[in-house]
Amino acid sequence: NVQKTFEYRIKPYGEQHLLIMARDVTRLTQLEQTRKDFVANVSHELRTPLTVLNGYLEMLQVSEQVPPELFSKAMTEMSIQSVRMQGLVEQLLILSRIEASSERVFENRVDVPQMLAIIETEALTLNQEKHHTIEFDVDSDLRVYGSDTELRSAFSNLIFNAIHYTPDGGNIRVSWQRQGHRAKFCVADNGDGIAAKHINRLTERFYRVDKARSRKTGGSGLGLAIVKHVLSHHNSKLEIKSQVGKGSEFFFYFSEELCIDKNHPEDEDMH
Ligand code: ADP
Repeated sequence: NVQKTFEYRIKPYGEQHLLIMARDVTRLTQLEQTRKDFVANVSHELRTPLTVLNGYLEMLQVSEQVPPELFSKAMTEMSIQSVRMQGLVEQLLILSRIEASSERVFENRVDVPQMLAIIETEALTLNQEKHHTIEFDVDSDLRVYGSDTELRSAFSNLIFNAIHYTPDGGNIRVSWQRQGHRAKFCVADNGDGIAAKHINRLTERFYRVDKARSRKTGGSGLGLAIVKHVLSHHNSKLEIKSQVGKGSEFFFYFSEELCIDKNHPEDEDMH
């Protein structure tokens, strides 16, 4: 029940007739709207930190003698805002690179266990302020065909989100295991959960359940949009199960053709 948009052209046809041509431009109009929304969103996201930066800069320029505590507050705030802008621009670049790429990702072998070990170290650093219990349950023999950079980005976005959005002292479980012939990656947390009405929209660019909270954690609103694109390159799809007050699970599967198992050397020769 999408409302259709048509473009009409009317031309004389012989002496007594008119030719009316109708073109369905629904898809084009939608794309144009998406593009406009995107530009508006990016501008808005950049304007907020820039306003704060400019405010502090002006204050520092006009004040003859800035008290040391105000000076140090201004420096901290300016640094937070510039890190935020840098994060946003980096995420935008990753997203546009992934969207533009027609790279066939199936030839490269990705050592997922090794990659997850590196992300685990980063997660522990991030966790210093949150004090969650984080458990990694990784099948050390399970690797896949895919893109290193893209998969690293997908895994870390899901893991870091669980750390950010779970209230302090929560439980987070990351698992990478065979399930039947497929490989399953899952991040489960016991955070606040997400109401059903938001779930389908989470992978839209800049969609956040709680904007203020996402900004506070340095979120750009692009993480899950990146995950969605990465997974579609790997013929997979992000699945989300969540219950308000109980927690969330973000997971996806890699099909049998993409799995490489060290214990079965014949898997390595199949491709
Ligand atoms: P952000 O940069 O804001 O984290 P994402 O695209 O990664 O953007 O996530 C979109 C939104 O999904 C977040 O702002 C947050 O509201 C919600 N979200 C993501 N992961 C979780 C989670 N594990 N628990 C609760 N909410 C989450």
